[in-house]
Amino acid sequence: MPTFTPLLDSLGRVHTSLRISVTDRCNIRCFYCMPETVRFLPREEILSFEEIERFVRVLAPLGVNKLRLTGGEPLVRSGLPKLVERLAAIGGIEDIALTTNGILLEENAVALKNAGLQRVNISLDALTEETFRRISRRDGLDRVLAGIHAARAAGFQKIRLNAVAIKGITEAEIVPLARFAREQQMEMRFIEFMPLDADDQWDHDQVLTGEEIRREIESAIGPLVPAPRPDPSQPASDFAYGDGGGVIGFINPVTQPFCHDCNRLRLTAEGKVRNCLFSTVEWDARAVLRGGGSDEDLAELVRDCIWNKKPGHGIDSDQFVKPQRAMYQIGG
Ligand code: SAM
Ligand code: SF4
Repeated sequence: MPTFTPLLDSLGRVHTSLRISVTDRCNIRCFYCMPETVRFLPREEILSFEEIERFVRVLAPLGVNKLRLTGGEPLVRSGLPKLVERLAAIGGIEDIALTTNGILLEENAVALKNAGLQRVNISLDALTEETFRRISRRDGLDRVLAGIHAARAAGFQKIRLNAVAIKGITEAEIVPLARFAREQQMEMRFIEFMPLDADDQWDHDQVLTGEEIRREIESAIGPLVPAPRPDPSQPASDFAYGDGGGVIGFINPVTQPFCHDCNRLRLTAEGKVRNCLFSTVEWDARAVLRGGGSDEDLAELVRDCIWNKKPGHGIDSDQFVKPQRAMYQIGG
C-alpha cells in the first residue's frame, strides 16, 4: 500500500523538483562540463522513455510537480518530444522545462511546444564565435542563435538564457549578453563556474562572481534593483533594471550557496538518483526498475536518497570532495 508522504530530508526540506538527464551525449564539448575525448554510456545503460515515465509516475504522488529535462544535450536524444508528451500526461506534473545548448532547437522547437513543454533555458555563454569555440571546442554559435529565435517563434513565453561566467575568458561577453537578452526581452542568468569539470582544472580564481558581473552590468547599462522572489527555492537572485528593461538573474552557487532552500533531486541518464549536484553517493533506481521492483520499492529508494541529503555542498570548506562525475554525467 503506497504512502503519500512528501519527499522530506532530515532538515525538513521538501523536494518537488526533479531534473532528468536523458543522455550523457552532447554535440559540443564545453571544457567546464566534459572532457575533449569522451566515452559515452552504451545505449542499453540509458533509461528508456518507459522507465523514465514510470519513475515520474511514482514520484508525482509524492509531491514532485516540476520537471526539467537535461543532459548531456537532451536534444541529441531522438524522439524527445515524445517523452515530453508522456510526462505532460502524468497527473500532478505542473511544469516541464528543458535546458539545452540550443544547437538542435530550431528543428525541434515546434514539436516540443506541441508536446507540452512549457519553458526553455538556452545556454549562451558568448556572442562572439571565437569565445564560443574556445569554451565549447566546436563551432555552432549561429545554430544557437537560430534556436533562440525559433523558440520564440514557436510560442515559448519564458525563455531564459544561461551563461557560465569564467574569469579570463568571458569578461568581454557579459555586457553584450545582457544587452542582447534585454533586446530579446528574455531573462539572462549568469552562473558561477562550479567544480564539476571533467579535467579537474577548476580553480577558485576562475570564478567570475555574480557580484562582479552585477557591478559590471550596472556601470555599463544602469542600476539594478532586487526583484521579488516568488519561489524561495529558485537558485537565482533576480534583479530588475531600473529603467524597466526586464529582469536579470545571478546563480551564485560558489559565493552564495542556496542549499538551505534546495528542493531538487536528480535522475542521471543511467538511472541513478542523486540528492545534490555535488553528492558523492547515488541510489540505483535502474536496478529497481529492471529488477522487478515495485513502485513502493522505487519510492522507498528515493525517500532514502532524499533523507540522506547533506545540509550543503561545502565547496568552500576544507572537507569538500569533488564528485567523481563531471557535469555531463550528472545532468545540470
Ligand atoms: N547541454 C545542455 C546545456 O548546455 O544547456 C544541458 C546540460 S548542461 C550540463 C546544463 C547547464 O549546466 C548549462 O547551462 C551549462 O552551462 C551548465 N554547466 C555545465 N558545467 C558547469 C560548471 N562546471 N559550472 C557551472 N555551470 C555548468
Ligand atoms: Fe554539452 Fe551542455 Fe555540457 Fe556544454 S554544458 S558540453 S552543451 S552538456
